[in-house]
Amino acid sequence: MTLFPEMFPGPLGHSLAGQALVAGIWSLETTPLRAFGLGRHNAVDDTPAGGGAGMVIRADVLGPAIDAAATKTNPEARHIYLSPRGRPLTQALAHELADGPGVLLVAGRFEGIDQRVIDGRQLEEISIGDYVLSGGELGAMVLLDAVVRLLPGVVGAQESLAHESFETGLLEHPQYTRPRTWEGRDIPDVLLSGDHAKMAKWREDEALALTTARRPDLINKLGGKTKTE
Ligand code: SAM
Repeated sequence: MTLFPEMFPGPLGHSLAGQALVAGIWSLETTPLRAFGLGRHNAVDDTPAGGGAGMVIRADVLGPAIDAAATKTNPEARHIYLSPRGRPLTQALAHELADGPGVLLVAGRFEGIDQRVIDGRQLEEISIGDYVLSGGELGAMVLLDAVVRLLPGVVGAQESLAHESFETGLLEHPQYTRPRTWEGRDIPDVLLSGDHAKMAKWREDEALALTTARRPDLINKLGGKTKTE
């Protein structure tokens, strides 16, 4: 649900998500909010009740638009409003959505949407981070990209997903590829040793060190338990 349907699939039409879209592993239908606008100008917004800056998307426009979109979506689909006030999007939530029956995503604009739609249509609010975007479309794309790559058949080698940042509770270890030496910098010897146990230990140690330095909050969440212990 968006005021700018022409933005989609946008980046999601490329690379892995794009190939999966063509292959029918996932599908996307945009509903143009403007089609539900009121009056000669198809107005979708109005001034905030009680005054204040900006405009708010009207309940009597968005409500019917969501109802129409819901008829084209899996009846079990989660109805989500992309919102800076929402539950943070995490890898765990992306897995939850990838395992689910689909989503109906509402992209806000202006100052947001009338609270009565959130309450009346029981929209789940999800945020992609602690910053304010100008619209929910990029948020919807971020959420879709994170979810779609978890669908079976989208990423070739599923084991490559298992060690990615956040999957183990840690950030990922550093990655290297050819050439062996670049601008005087070498690939760490251990990665060229062919000793798989040593390489696995090195990757775990690096992941732990990196996470400790950059995201101590993730280490705290692990409660002191790491794979290396
Ligand atoms: N007035 C709102 C506030 O202060 O919370 C911000 C509105 S923002 C300019 C317009 C729209 O962008 C929102 O309705 C929402 O759909 C989207 N948006 C902005 N930041 C977002 C975020 N961090 N995560 C998800 N969606 C966001």
